Amino acid sequence: MSIQVAYVSGFGRSGSTIVEGLLQSRYAASGLGEVFFLWERGVLRNELCGCGLRFRQCPFWSDVLKDGFGRLTEFDAAIYDLEFKKARGRRPKMASLARVEPPTELFSDVAGALYGAISRRLDGEVLIDSSKYPLYGAWLTQTPGIDVSVLHLFRDPRAVAHSWSQLKRRPESVGDEEYMSTSRSALTSVWRWKWFNHWSDELRESFDLPGALVSYEAFCDDPETHLRAIAAALSLKPRTTPKGEWHSVSGNPMRFSSDKLEVRKDEKWREDMAPGSQAVTRMLCGSQHRKLRRGAAAFLQTASA
Ligand SMILES: [Zn+2]
Repeated sequence: MSIQVAYVSGFGRSGSTIVEGLLQSRYAASGLGEVFFLWERGVLRNELCGCGLRFRQCPFWSDVLKDGFGRLTEFDAAIYDLEFKKARGRRPKMASLARVEPPTELFSDVAGALYGAISRRLDGEVLIDSSKYPLYGAWLTQTPGIDVSVLHLFRDPRAVAHSWSQLKRRPESVGDEEYMSTSRSALTSVWRWKWFNHWSDELRESFDLPGALVSYEAFCDDPETHLRAIAAALSLKPRTTPKGEWHSVSGNPMRFSSDKLEVRKDEKWREDMAPGSQAVTRMLCGSQHRKLRRGAAAFLQTASA
């Protein structure tokens, strides 16, 4: 049986952790956080899993790695990490991601073994991977044995730019205090917002994948309708057994308190962000954002019909 992956694509700080958490609480799907970072932040740095244990001590991930890779050395993990990162580094020049360089053989072997072992450990449930990099999603799509559907999640570019400018501690990092990455200027975030959202849209188009296009703000206004629409588009079945612990690799700190998931639009940027930055962001992203919102409204209408 093929491995089912619901891939969350988009730019960071767009609400993927809360959406992943709510989906898995209602549907037969398991949130994994950002699998892209499994080798670096999980195996090599031994950061905290969402269950609260260090990654290499977490029974879930220990089983997965043993099943998929047998005796895994740090050297192997470092090689696999580099291979996964190659998927992020490709800069597409063509309009279609389907024409960008295909995955390397090693990537396909490693991803096949990893997602296969996760899927077996979760009895074939759909795997929600919030890695978000569209090009990594494109490589997963082309990996034999993996069936990908895409949830493209986007948020107001001003909210995202503001969030990227804030210093947020990463509680999963052990040892020295470490902070979630921040962007030096709103402009950097703006360009990255445009890039990630453009290629996330292309990911669904290029490979003709089943998928959902969701605005985080609209999701916050009506989470129930959105969850049902996403589940229908991604073929998620209602959950019949309670969801166990959330073994997520990396993501927003709220994954450590999965019993207290709270949908919050967080519009602090309206007060905190300089009016000039807001205006420039709106000017540069306005038409793309409007197009995404129109697409998301059309998706909701079709999926809820
Ligand atoms: Zn765990």
